[in-house]
Amino acid sequence: MKPAKPPKPLLPGRGVDGRPVTLGVMGGGQLGRMFVHAAQAMGYATAVLDLDPQSPAGLVSHHHIQTSYLDEVGLAQLAATSHAITTEFENVPAAALLALARTRPVAPAASAVSIAQDRAAEKAHFVRCGVPCAPFAVLENATQLAQVDANLLPGVLKTSRMGYDGKGQVRVKNRAELAKAWAQLKRVPCVFEKMLALKAECSVILARGADGACVNLPLQVNTHRDGILAFSEVYKGNMPDVLVKQALLAAKSIANELVYVGVLCVEFFVISGESSQSGAAKKAPDRLIVNEIAPRPHNSGHYSLDACDVSQFELQVRAMAGLPLTQPRQHSPAIMLNLLGDIWPKTGEPKWDKVLALPGTHLHLYGKTEARAGRKMGHLTITGKTVGKVQATAALAAKLLGIAPLAH
Ligand code: ADP
Ligand code: MG
Repeated sequence: MKPAKPPKPLLPGRGVDGRPVTLGVMGGGQLGRMFVHAAQAMGYATAVLDLDPQSPAGLVSHHHIQTSYLDEVGLAQLAATSHAITTEFENVPAAALLALARTRPVAPAASAVSIAQDRAAEKAHFVRCGVPCAPFAVLENATQLAQVDANLLPGVLKTSRMGYDGKGQVRVKNRAELAKAWAQLKRVPCVFEKMLALKAECSVILARGADGACVNLPLQVNTHRDGILAFSEVYKGNMPDVLVKQALLAAKSIANELVYVGVLCVEFFVISGESSQSGAAKKAPDRLIVNEIAPRPHNSGHYSLDACDVSQFELQVRAMAGLPLTQPRQHSPAIMLNLLGDIWPKTGEPKWDKVLALPGTHLHLYGKTEARAGRKMGHLTITGKTVGKVQATAALAAKLLGIAPLAH
């Protein structure tokens, strides 16, 4: 198919309407905040729509529209203020994005976001793309519950919508636990996935333009604890080349099939060849399984702010503004540690001065005042000349902050 003629790029500065060119974002969380920083660094004005007056992105944006995502007045105000609009939150209702798209360019489109926000639709998309995912069943009624294949047990029951950071998920061993778990999740539509023995997890972040051009960040290797990303490691050799290539191809085909415009993250599981082909005389190669997609920049790509010449947030700006997408170059090996509310002392702040005394540490805090367990308050990126140096510094920083050692 011939790529569509790219729209005229939206350059920073004064627009044809005489106003500063303004980029709008649905959602005011930390991803929105880092998007706002990137857009402002490039000379754009910004507008954020988020109900919370203290939202991390709202606090730093030129305009902050404090309404819910479906508020007609708020949406009209965002459309009137912004020259183009993106999203930082995958659960923004598709209807809101469609309403905005009537008057302004919106990237990614509602059609792509609505697939990413529904696990059943997302898996159907993976099947369409011929990219393997974990064996699963859709669970929406009692008949489907009774018919769940015994081979899927033990498994993970996940709500189809609104899950994040391991929330809306229950691990079950048998049918009785499955029925109980579904009741616990209020019998909302779910997918039930076979529990896989994960050798590793990784993700690919790419940006695709309206003309179909596609660039990507290097592959991130991710370690989760309690369903929440704990740290990401990004350097050459963190994953065998053959798997890196497979992951990239799969991510690109998922984006192309969606005719995606914007930044997309694709999460993968690595399954050991042994567990996938038990009893085989010769060890089978490790396999990649796609887990889920996020229609926006991703926590695992935060290191790109400090370790790459183009960050995932700059890519988001470029893609939505129709600017050229250049292939990012990682100039330093990196480890990104998430800073969860758990590490905050009862009073005061963690010892940032001690951490920042370590060379190559980059602190990012999201401006959240209340530190709760499991809440993402910020992240710390560690860069350095060699992988060994980065690992040693990350281990010291983790120790200073009371983060468990960075074992996989
Ligand atoms: P979320 O939207 O909360 O990120 P995920 O589906 O990515 O949901 O699940 C969170 C984490 O739980 C994954 O990164 C992985 O560590 C673990 N997990 C999820 N599904 C499975 C599975 N089928 N088998 C093994 N571990 C899983
Ligand atoms: Mg996930």
